[in-house]
Amino acid sequence: MANKPLIVITGASSGFGAKTAQLFNQAGYPLLLLARRIEKIKELPLDFNNVLIEQVDVSNSQEFKQAIKKAEAIYGPTDLLVNNAGIMLLGNIVTQSEDEWQKMLQTNIIGVLNGMKIVLEDMTSRNSGTIINISSIAGFKAFTDHAAYGASKFGVHGLTETVRQEVANSNVRISLVSPGAAETELLTHVTNEKSLDDYLAWKDSMGGLTLDPEKVAETIKFIYDMPQEVTIREIAIAATKQQ
Ligand code: NDP
Repeated sequence: MANKPLIVITGASSGFGAKTAQLFNQAGYPLLLLARRIEKIKELPLDFNNVLIEQVDVSNSQEFKQAIKKAEAIYGPTDLLVNNAGIMLLGNIVTQSEDEWQKMLQTNIIGVLNGMKIVLEDMTSRNSGTIINISSIAGFKAFTDHAAYGASKFGVHGLTETVRQEVANSNVRISLVSPGAAETELLTHVTNEKSLDDYLAWKDSMGGLTLDPEKVAETIKFIYDMPQEVTIREIAIAATKQQ
């Protein structure tokens, strides 16, 4: 077994998840990296010793659990779960399809709940472990065309604080990172052209937003690197020019 404990990262195929995987890989942690497009994970600049890659849709609790149990059989218990997988589909409440609402709620909320449920029984019995959920500035501030996405991220805020209180007594840490707008693949899934144009115009109006995904990865590691008896409950991190 490797010296360092197992870290599980969802949504590791691009954006914040890929950068977080690189940072912890450089620090020598064994990793379980999850996404649907695992070929993209295999292309990351990683040392693939002690890296297990599994194709998982986080909304499927069985797939998610099987992957974690497989990794734990190799590397030992999960010490950190980064619930990062998410999608943002912008749209007006009247015209956005229910299918897009479902996709966001299933991934951004059910996916996070699934991950927490899978690892928490063992973490609470070991009296150790950390979960970091990735929310958004849109998890505490409203934006037009974000009804379902905002609902999902406000939901992540609520469930994270609820579970933090539920497990605090067992010394398990539950934290939240709320990033602002950053250049990742997040916008590539938006189907509503007007919503996308409005979002891009909003970014341009602030002179272009420059939150480097690597800074989000560093924030996640900063939270994790605190002693187990210290929980950073939440960090919101955004480009300085973001309103
Ligand atoms: P990306 O689109 O670059 O990355 C999203 C990741 O989530 C991908 O690896 C994707 O992998 C994975 N994913 C999506 N759906 C599923 C699913 N059902 N099951 C498993 N994996 C899934 O975007 P970001 O890096 O920006 O997003 C990461 C998180 O950060 C999200 O929760 C997002 O809401 C949040 N966020 C992003 C902001 C931004 O401006 N970029 C701002 C605030 C928050 P694959 O498609 O291969 O499954």
